[in-house]
Amino acid sequence: MTAHRDRAQQDYAELVTRRLSLDLTRGKPAANQLDLSAPLLALPGDTYKAAEGLDTRNYGGLHGLRELREIFSGPLQVPVEQLVAAGNSSLELMHDSLVHAMLSVLPGATSRWVDEERIAFLCPVPGYDRHFGVCERLGIEMIPVPMTDEGPDMETVERLVAEDASVKGIWCVPKYSNPDGISYSDETVTRLAAMPTAAPDFRIFWDNAYAVHHLTDERVEIADLLAACADHGNPDRAFVFGSTSKITFAGSGVGFFGASPANVTWLLGNMAKRTIGPDKINQLRHALFLKDEAGVYAHMDLHRAELRPKFDAVLRILEAELGGTGLATWTDPKGGYFITLKVLDGCAREVVRRAAEAGIVLTPAGATHPHGQDPDDAVIRIAPSFPTPDELEKAIAGVTACVRLVGYEKLLAAK
Ligand code: PMP
Repeated sequence: MTAHRDRAQQDYAELVTRRLSLDLTRGKPAANQLDLSAPLLALPGDTYKAAEGLDTRNYGGLHGLRELREIFSGPLQVPVEQLVAAGNSSLELMHDSLVHAMLSVLPGATSRWVDEERIAFLCPVPGYDRHFGVCERLGIEMIPVPMTDEGPDMETVERLVAEDASVKGIWCVPKYSNPDGISYSDETVTRLAAMPTAAPDFRIFWDNAYAVHHLTDERVEIADLLAACADHGNPDRAFVFGSTSKITFAGSGVGFFGASPANVTWLLGNMAKRTIGPDKINQLRHALFLKDEAGVYAHMDLHRAELRPKFDAVLRILEAELGGTGLATWTDPKGGYFITLKVLDGCAREVVRRAAEAGIVLTPAGATHPHGQDPDDAVIRIAPSFPTPDELEKAIAGVTACVRLVGYEKLLAAK
């Protein structure tokens, strides 16, 4: 053990002398992924009429272009009429849906959320920090629920929603979750749709951000939550979100909202106070570029070709440097944007700190939990997409040196 620690110290000292400046923080597409959508910049050309004859240059069309909604209806599992194509971000739609629920009575609700004493959301952990950020901003209490390899622990979820009417919602990333890469089982989806809730206005925030973001030949499918909710007599329970951020341009994509007809009417009524209509020219260029659902899948294969080697490199280095040490475990996701590295309890913050000192910036430890508090201090989220392959390999090798250093120091201190 002392020999392992000594070697780790040497490796770390050597790493620091290299004065790296590498960033593994956020799941951003790399420039060559953005290049795949370069033709978008020249579209829609001289065309400005949408399929329904709407002049995309003008005001209006709050629901979004039908031809684009038709393309994403299948991947997002929302009937075309119930799918809204909006601005450039699904996070914005999630944020606004919560603000609207605060200020305008939801279908099935008896009062505005802002008039209630306490509003709480279930937060499966590890989860997506920006979901937690929205809750923090709006004063929504966050209740962590552990993830299993089939989705959130449903016994805990069912108990909490049944006994407490101030639990108004749950965050879900149902496919290739951020950060664990987990896809919800059919049983989890059915239980979420069917469970009795004390709150009549309970909502599932179904953030299907990685619906078509496959990394293997297996295109994982999940059960249709919206249909399941309707089948179980809870038609208004699901709010579905998605976007083209990691399909076309992360900053200039299109965000989607899907829900029951009553929820869609509610959202559009509130949205109408905020905008006269979305950027339909951008929606038209997306429809022309992607063409149809098959076009989306063909395009996603090009992304996969860019991303797969990066994920493989991370997995290869983790195995070579940490395999068999007992110092860490990691995920091998079938899709999405992240690998979760789990280090020994009490070590994640220190690994992130040591990495930063060596010029490698990781997502802050704890970011995967509400208020940045990972009670085990064990989860580190790795985002392989953005760096070049060379930078990525250097960064991951550096991280593994930090994991060995901190891990062996911890084990020796405990002896
Ligand atoms: N949801 C999840 C789970 C994400 O990982 C991300 C991007 N990191 C987003 C939403 C952001 O989506 P958008 O760009 O559509 O706002």
